[in-house]
Amino acid sequence: MRILDYLNLPEGEMIPSAIVIHHSLSSSSTTVDDIDRWHREKGWRYVGYAEVIEADGDVWLCRKNRVQAANYKYNTITYNICLCGNFDTNNYVPSEQWKSLVTRVKQLKEKYPNAVIKMHRHYGNTENCPGKNFPFQKLLEEVKKVDKVDKSWKEILREVSTDPDKWVEVIELLSNIKESDSILDLYDTLGDLYIHRDTLRYLPLLIEKIYNK
Ligand SMILES: [Zn+2]
Repeated sequence: MRILDYLNLPEGEMIPSAIVIHHSLSSSSTTVDDIDRWHREKGWRYVGYAEVIEADGDVWLCRKNRVQAANYKYNTITYNICLCGNFDTNNYVPSEQWKSLVTRVKQLKEKYPNAVIKMHRHYGNTENCPGKNFPFQKLLEEVKKVDKVDKSWKEILREVSTDPDKWVEVIELLSNIKESDSILDLYDTLGDLYIHRDTLRYLPLLIEKIYNK
């Protein structure tokens, strides 16, 4: 997956409340240049989306988290991603494009944890966008899947030591764990344990870090 910058705009101020998926409702060979041209022809300044993902999986950053132009009435609070293609007529998203979409939505969810994932048609100003065949449920499921890659203790420490909120979260979490809690119980009570499980494994190092601070 390549991430390329189309407009070279600096990051904006918007903390989006939703990540919204669109399709270009055009052939799968559509490029970001085409969309930019169409949107300029409408009188917009430039391509109206936060980003565009072409069929080969290339991600083009466009407006990023700046005011959008593709989600009427919601342009100041939504982060709009457009997939090149027509998922009214195509019944699948090409695999590279799909992988890029899942990766980008995961990255954005990390950056904007409170943002929900929506389709353009949830906003009532389009009937089908991003296409009646777009596998929205599958997207939600894949984004929820946690990457099962164990982080090294160095990475964890680096992450935790540069993020005070994470410190609070980790310490509160650890202080609430009972000796009798099994890993399965922890899954039930704590949910997203992939991070926390690693944290637990490196508890001695974390304590050392706390004491030496
Ligand atoms: Zn749309």
